[in-house]
Amino acid sequence: MHGASDPGKTRDNNEDAYAAVPDLGFAVVADGMGGHQAGEVASAMAIDVITRSLAERLPSASSRRTKGARVTDIVRRAVEMANSAVNEAANSNPQQAGMGSTVVVTAFHGDRVCIAHVGDSRIYRLRAGLLQQLTEDHSLVQDLVRRGFLSPEEARVSPHKNVVTRALGVSAGVQVEIRDERVQDGDLFLLCSDGLHDMLADDAIAATLRANMNDISVLASRLIDAANNAGGEDNVTVVLVRVQKRSARARKHDEQAAA
Ligand code: CA
Repeated sequence: MHGASDPGKTRDNNEDAYAAVPDLGFAVVADGMGGHQAGEVASAMAIDVITRSLAERLPSASSRRTKGARVTDIVRRAVEMANSAVNEAANSNPQQAGMGSTVVVTAFHGDRVCIAHVGDSRIYRLRAGLLQQLTEDHSLVQDLVRRGFLSPEEARVSPHKNVVTRALGVSAGVQVEIRDERVQDGDLFLLCSDGLHDMLADDAIAATLRANMNDISVLASRLIDAANNAGGEDNVTVVLVRVQKRSARARKHDEQAAA
């Protein structure tokens, strides 16, 4: 796993935040919103609460049979706790009223990954050279795409592209979109804020991924450079996760440790 974040070319502050914890197999990206630096507070709080909750609870989800459901529950609960924390802070501090954050989470376990999101940050997967977007934005323009009023490319350049229809912290409850699916050896996952995918069309993201597959830290820099070269109109954050097959011996060691 490797993450990087950059304020971009036009903004002084960075309202994005991320965490990448390879030892526990999870990564999170959050993109905050709100005036008076409240966006930075919201995304930092979301990352902090989710990271602490996952670090505390994921290691106990060790039973192979129940693990998928357990991990999904743990991730959903972590995002709900972040929602409550941001919402309570927003309600108790007038300077932070109305603040919120998007969030995307990947939690890898065995040969599977739990994928969760709220808002318009995204998770992509490059598999066998093909890029697929695994999350559907909770945004006004995505609703219009789904109903056939806009093409995806029109949505990407729409003046309303930044209007999200779901965010952490804006109300007491949040609906987390979440699923669990199988991974394959060699899969490359990309978590990103809209500062990347607003600036770069999917084919440009795919071309950058394919050209820099060998080193994900270089790849993170290349993606940020590409977003900045395309205008860098927003903060840009990426986390890359490469799935590698583990040896039978390493797996056996893990299973013995979990038993
Ligand atoms: Ca943003």
